[in-house]
Amino acid sequence: MFKDHGKQVYTFINRNTNEAVKVSLNDSFNVDILAPQLEKLRGSVNSGTATDLEKEDLKQMTEEVSEEILEIPYNKLFHTEHVEMDIPKKTMNFKNVKCSKCGEMVSEHRAIKMEGKISCIPCFKG
Ligand SMILES: [Zn+2]
Repeated sequence: MFKDHGKQVYTFINRNTNEAVKVSLNDSFNVDILAPQLEKLRGSVNSGTATDLEKEDLKQMTEEVSEEILEIPYNKLFHTEHVEMDIPKKTMNFKNVKCSKCGEMVSEHRAIKMEGKISCIPCFKG
């Protein structure tokens, strides 16, 4: 289940045992401390003012920081706790159908059918 609350919090549930573990990003983890230049570079690139060199720097720095993050023990990055929660009901499984325009597969309940043709949302809109 995806709930867009803008938080990096994940709950994993074992339906067989009803155990649930909640994982949240530690507030002590701050990527800006790990790589203070990253935010400025990202700002330049996102605003379209970055030079090719800055774009390359951002790419390389992102890779380096990603590698550094992967080396951090998970219990320093995340807070984990066992939680009690109501187990969500199983969702219906929808089959995938093929978009007639882009050829990509789309969940049937999100597909749009018009004049006998199946379309995904982006193709339908645009
Ligand atoms: Zn499509």
